[in-house]
Amino acid sequence: MREENGYSFETKAIHSGYESKEHFDSLTPPIYQSSTFTFSSVEQGGKRFAGEESGYIYSRLSNPTVSVLEERMAQLEQGEAALAFSSGMAAVSAVLISLTKAHDHILCSRGLYGCTFGLLDMMQEKYHIEHSFSDLTSKEDILTMIQPNTTCIYIETPINPTMQCVDLSVVSQIAKEKGIKVVVDNTFLTPYLQKPLQLGCDLVIHSATKYIGGHGDVIAGIAVGREELIGEIKSTTQKDIGGVLSPFDAWLLIRGLKTLAIRMDRHCENAEHIVERLQSHPKIKKVMYPGDPKHTATESMKKQMKKGGGLISFELKGTFEDAKKFANQLQLISIAVSLGDAETLIQHPASMTHSVIPEEARKEMGITNELLRLSVGLESWVDIWQDLEQALDCI
Ligand SMILES: *Cc1c(COP(=O)(O)O)cnc(C)c1O
Repeated sequence: MREENGYSFETKAIHSGYESKEHFDSLTPPIYQSSTFTFSSVEQGGKRFAGEESGYIYSRLSNPTVSVLEERMAQLEQGEAALAFSSGMAAVSAVLISLTKAHDHILCSRGLYGCTFGLLDMMQEKYHIEHSFSDLTSKEDILTMIQPNTTCIYIETPINPTMQCVDLSVVSQIAKEKGIKVVVDNTFLTPYLQKPLQLGCDLVIHSATKYIGGHGDVIAGIAVGREELIGEIKSTTQKDIGGVLSPFDAWLLIRGLKTLAIRMDRHCENAEHIVERLQSHPKIKKVMYPGDPKHTATESMKKQMKKGGGLISFELKGTFEDAKKFANQLQLISIAVSLGDAETLIQHPASMTHSVIPEEARKEMGITNELLRLSVGLESWVDIWQDLEQALDCI
C-alpha cells in the first residue's frame, strides 16, 4: 500500500535516501569509514562551516553512510528529518536535554525504560528539570497533570512490561493547544506498526538496537521529527555531547531496515499464536499483549497500531521461585534483556530490568514477581511454544 509520501513502506525501507549513481553504482551503500573530509581550498572549508555549501566536514557532524540511514528513517516515520545516535539512551538524553531548561517540567507515561527513569532523576537532581508520571488515559487526567511549566510530554506506548497503551492523538491534541512538545519512544512497535508523527506527536525516538537493527548485533538510537526540532538537536546536544553513530553501525541498521516489514509481520504472527496458547494454559494467570481485545485493543488503539507487536508479558500462577524455575528450564529460548532479535528472549523484570524499583512501587506498576516478558523471535512458533510448554510442565 502506498504511503502519503511516495512508495510503500516496504519499498522505502529498501531504497529511500540512497542513489547508487552517486556511489560508483554500488548496489548497497558504502561504509564511509572516515573521521574527516577534505576541502579543496580554505574558502570551500569556510563555506561549508558557514552552511553556504553542502558537503561533509567531520563525522561527528555528519557522515554519508549515517546520512542514508537518517534519510531512510525520516521517510519511514513520515517525518522531515532524522538523527542517528550511538545508543537509544544517547537519543533519549539528547532529545530531552535539548527540549528542556532548568525549572521546566516533563510529564511522563507511568512506565518507562529503566535508564530513562535514571536520566530523569539525574536531570531533576542536578539541573532542576522536574518530572511526574501519569497514566495519560483520559483527557481529564492529562489536563490535571499538566503544570504551567510543562514543556514536554514523554511517552512509551505500549508501556514496558505491562503493555498498557496510550492514545497518542488525544495526548497530542491537548499538548498542541498548550504549546507542549510530545515525544514518543516508538521502540516496541517501529514505524511499520505505529507512526506517532502522523498522530500529531512532535518527535519519535528509537532504540534502534531492537527491531530496527533486528539481529542483536548493534547498539544504536534514532530521533525523527520536524526539520526545525531535529536541526536544533543536531547543532546542540548531538554535536556538543557527541553520541553519534559509527558508519559501520549505520550500515548494519540500513541492512536491518530492508527486512523490517517482513520481520515485524512474522514477529506479530508468532506472538499471536503464543498469546492464544498462553491464554488457555492452566498455569498462566494473566497475559498482557497490546493486540489482545481483552487487554488494550480499544477502537482507537486498533487505529493507532497496525498490529500488536512481538512482545508479550505474562504472569504465572505460582511464586517468585516458580517464575525463576520456569525461565531456567527453557532450552531454545534464551534468558536475556533486549528485544526485537531473531532469537526469542525472555527476561524477568522483577529481578532484572526493574529490580532497582522498590517492590511496593513495582507492584503498583503491575510488575509482580511472577511476571515474565517474552520477546517473540523469528523461529517457528511451534518450536517456541513447545519450549514454553515443557518449561510450564516443570512447575
Ligand atoms: C532498549 C531501550 C532503550 C534504550 O536503548 P539502548 O539502545 O539500549 O540505549 C530505550 N527505550 C526502550 C523502550 C528500550 O527498549
